[in-house]
Amino acid sequence: MSAFETDYLITGAGATGLAFADTLLQETSAHITLVDSHALPGGHWNEAYPFVTLHQPSAFYGVNSLPLGRGRKDTHGLNAGLYELATGAEVCSYFQQVMQQQLLPSGRVRYLPMSRCQAVATTAEGGSAEVVSLLSGATTAVRVRRKWVDASHFSPEVPATTPPAFAVAPGVRLLTPTQLAQAGVGRAGELPTPPGYCILGAGKTAMDVALWLLGQGVPPAALHWVVPRDAWVVNRLGTQPGEEFFMQSIGGMAQQMRALSEAQSVDDLFLRLEACGQMLRIDRQHMPRMFHYATLSEAEVQALRQITQCVRLGRVQAIEPEALVLQQGRVAMAPGTAYIHCTASAVAPRANRPIFEPGRITPQLVRAPLVSFSAAVCAYVEAHYGSDAEKNALCQPVPFPRRLAGYITATLVSQANQQRWNEDKTLRNWMRQTRLDGFGQLTSLVDRNDSAKMAVLAELRQHLGTAAASAQRLLAASR
Ligand SMILES: Cc1cc2nc3c(=O)[nH]c(=O)nc-3n(C[C@H](O)[C@H](O)[C@H](O)COP(=O)(O)OP(=O)(O)OC[C@H]3O[C@@H](n4cnc5c(N)ncnc54)[C@H](O)[C@@H]3O)c2cc1C
Repeated sequence: MSAFETDYLITGAGATGLAFADTLLQETSAHITLVDSHALPGGHWNEAYPFVTLHQPSAFYGVNSLPLGRGRKDTHGLNAGLYELATGAEVCSYFQQVMQQQLLPSGRVRYLPMSRCQAVATTAEGGSAEVVSLLSGATTAVRVRRKWVDASHFSPEVPATTPPAFAVAPGVRLLTPTQLAQAGVGRAGELPTPPGYCILGAGKTAMDVALWLLGQGVPPAALHWVVPRDAWVVNRLGTQPGEEFFMQSIGGMAQQMRALSEAQSVDDLFLRLEACGQMLRIDRQHMPRMFHYATLSEAEVQALRQITQCVRLGRVQAIEPEALVLQQGRVAMAPGTAYIHCTASAVAPRANRPIFEPGRITPQLVRAPLVSFSAAVCAYVEAHYGSDAEKNALCQPVPFPRRLAGYITATLVSQANQQRWNEDKTLRNWMRQTRLDGFGQLTSLVDRNDSAKMAVLAELRQHLGTAAASAQRLLAASR
């Protein structure tokens, strides 16, 4: 068996592994090895449907050393007036550039695509692992001098690689979003044009599919939408990087903290967030029970409201040739309907664990929902701080919301981390220069003579003080 040594062995060359490696490379002289089962860097983006885009501005995504996108605003479409959202193809191409132009030329990074990392054993002194080539089957032994980094902890499930968890009768046309866009539904001589489409699932992928179908000219009357739970979504207006959006972004944070301070219940909190324009929901007749940080523009929400044939009878249990069988009932469907599988969980529940352990790092969210920023922070802390206890004190993992109340916990833990970072001069200074933390730069650049912006910052500070206590009360009441 061949063998090599490395300081950091990273399993996963997706957004998490790359953002971590990029910052570690900048901040240390360590040797890094990235192992990934895909042929190209980018993780799940390699399997994304053709019409996917980021749901947040490109400005905050990717790795710290290389900007993603050109900092332009969209001039047309449902994101018009807001900063650009990279397409899936752009994200994949960007991550290839990161590998080829940032990481590999350093001479300190080894990249092993089409390989599986297995038999990892860690100790306080480092560890060992095996890397198996998925093409040749050859196994290489790796001695890890410092740490193994599990950058697969936050890996999402996507429809392209996650079979549906319900029965599908023979002859029923069930398509993934990729198949919908590529398989040529209705192509001459192949599949007949379906009488309608039924979108299964109510997460961001389902929203993307619905918007795409509407954008292709499919009439809303031809669409059914299975919505097991309605979702609150983040208004993209509040996530904009530019200074011209200061009132919406930083002002929006102040409004969030005010809502948290004043809310009487979890539902009341979300209704207040909706009233101040921070949160949106597609159907105002239904109280959402899900919040996964899906982010939409107001124009996108408006477009989705055109779909009125929503099926709210729980999850799909089976699709029969002429009916949908759901947890709470059965709905007759036209034969030949094309069903679109959007039921994979992009945020499958995984228990948090300490980020820093002897011989092991598990990058997780340290500020929800920023995946890239969080991975970069974990790498920076690894590079500059001493014991695992000290590092973990700076990086508490943020639990991803499973219920609505999870938004409160995620906000509290994110804020507590931010507070500790603010008190640490080194970390604070690094964050001010970190492109992945656009909001930190926005606040640090405020002109003290700008009374309107200073008032927003004062309001934010004021409500931050009261929000934490109120949040604990809301959480206790929701249990
Ligand atoms: C459609 C979609 C859109 C999204 N949009 C956004 C967005 O706009 N903004 C945002 O912040 N987040 C977004 N997300 C969330 C997304 O999860 C993260 O942005 C990010 O891409 C996740 O990256 P990751 O590296 O954690 O996981 P992955 O991309 O899944 O990468 C993990 C990698 O590890 C590899 N791997 C796992 N185990 C092994 C092993 N044993 N050996 C070798 N390789 C292994 C996998 O093959 C994979 O390549 C989106 C998610 C989806 C599904």
